[in-house]
Amino acid sequence: MSSDNTIRLRTHSPAGEKRGNTSWVQCAACEGWFHATEDIINRAVVTLHCNHCHTEFLPADAKKIVLA
Ligand SMILES: [Zn+2]
Repeated sequence: MSSDNTIRLRTHSPAGEKRGNTSWVQCAACEGWFHATEDIINRAVVTLHCNHCHTEFLPADAKKIVLA
């Protein structure tokens, strides 16, 4: 999947946390960041659940996705 809302980071994560296999999704509704695995993000049919406002949306509808 190569949506234009997806960024692949090689040096750091947006929240300043240490690197790992965890990726980040930014909610389009509240702009809050939460964790998701790249495996989940790559499944276009999966519904992501925002931890902050509890909106559910598809990866393509995320405001931003960062693969760290
Ligand atoms: Zn949200």
